[in-house]
Amino acid sequence: MQQQITPEYLAAQGFSADLPERFWSQVNKNGKIQAHAPELGPCWEWTGLRNASGYGLVRKGIRQVGKGNLAIASRVSWVLHCGPISGGLLVCHKCDNRTCVNPEHLFLGTYRDNWMDCLNKGRNPLVGPSPERCRTAKLSWEDVKSIRVIGKTQKLPRSQIAEMFDISEDTVWSILHNKTWRRRRVSAAQMREFESKQKESEPIEFSPSPHASALAVMGCSESFESRFWSNIYKTSKDSCWLWTAAKNAMGYGVIGKGPCNSGNVLAHRASWIIHNGAIPDGSCVLHKCDTPACVNPNHMWLGTRPENNADMARKGRRRAIGPAPERAANAKLSWSKVAEIRSIYNQGKTGQVPLSKMFGVSQHAIWAIINNITWRDATYVKIEPHLPHSGRFENASAFVPKT
Ligand SMILES: [Zn+2]
Ligand SMILES: [Zn+2]
Repeated sequence: MQQQITPEYLAAQGFSADLPERFWSQVNKNGKIQAHAPELGPCWEWTGLRNASGYGLVRKGIRQVGKGNLAIASRVSWVLHCGPISGGLLVCHKCDNRTCVNPEHLFLGTYRDNWMDCLNKGRNPLVGPSPERCRTAKLSWEDVKSIRVIGKTQKLPRSQIAEMFDISEDTVWSILHNKTWRRRRVSAAQMREFESKQKESEPIEFSPSPHASALAVMGCSESFESRFWSNIYKTSKDSCWLWTAAKNAMGYGVIGKGPCNSGNVLAHRASWIIHNGAIPDGSCVLHKCDTPACVNPNHMWLGTRPENNADMARKGRRRAIGPAPERAANAKLSWSKVAEIRSIYNQGKTGQVPLSKMFGVSQHAIWAIINNITWRDATYVKIEPHLPHSGRFENASAFVPKT
């Protein structure tokens, strides 16, 4: 995970070319070792500005309309070491030390991960700023929080703060007096909901899975298990354990394998592996409780694909994503033939007409398969052959069945 740092890369991330220099001048690599996670080694402490929540801040050095002037130091560290952060993801700390910028201590999580993390640690995720303001606003909530902290703790003159954030002194005054960018109040109803949630959800305790190697084989990161457990909402051992993070169109939980875009795993399958070990080839993990978002391993059983299809049919459900069940008995094609058609076409040497002759179906049927219109499969990616038009059917005769 080594990111090449070029001025173009920095500019694309909204940072000036001198950002790395400014970043490194404010890092102390001999920070403390966290008592709860000594294996992580020392934190890299941020010695510069901090925001109200305790995260390090660094000036971006480029002004963009509607974007804040300052970046969170741990996010900058991720961008410098690991690469861009895709939309909607947060940089979270394994070490729980918000001033830490050691890339080894960081991982990417969703807002929901963070919400659950707050809940698990007994913090109230509802107390926070109201939504971001209009797109043309010069400041972001992070900036405003920083202005308030700087104004309160560092006793800088208003003119200096105004200069730092490229705003007027009046604006600084209004922010410091809570006249603009007012803090949101949490309504009593929201508070009640939060408290009842906190009461209902059992504290989630987990010991490392004895089947961690099965996860590692799939390419899951070290943080996988802890991320898995932080996304579960359960009221008791026997109830459904509901997945609180991302779900697919069918309502099944989805979890990323690792910190850097390495693909997803279905949460209920992950649960099965954590509790029971690897899933044998060709087997499906099925729900007894008929709740796709449930990841309680006691609510699942291992079935074959036909059993899965029968189960789906019994529940009157068709898969929106993933291969449809085998088709009618008189279908000319099967899933294996469809896969063959797609792979031959994707090699780019064969057109639709020769394929239609080879498999004894119409050209229209081939076209629909190639475009994932019939025999739909979410994992299939069509590759457009980049051949000169005349060359495309060159090898056609090789595929025509000899009669
Ligand atoms: Zn750390
Ligand atoms: Zn269940």
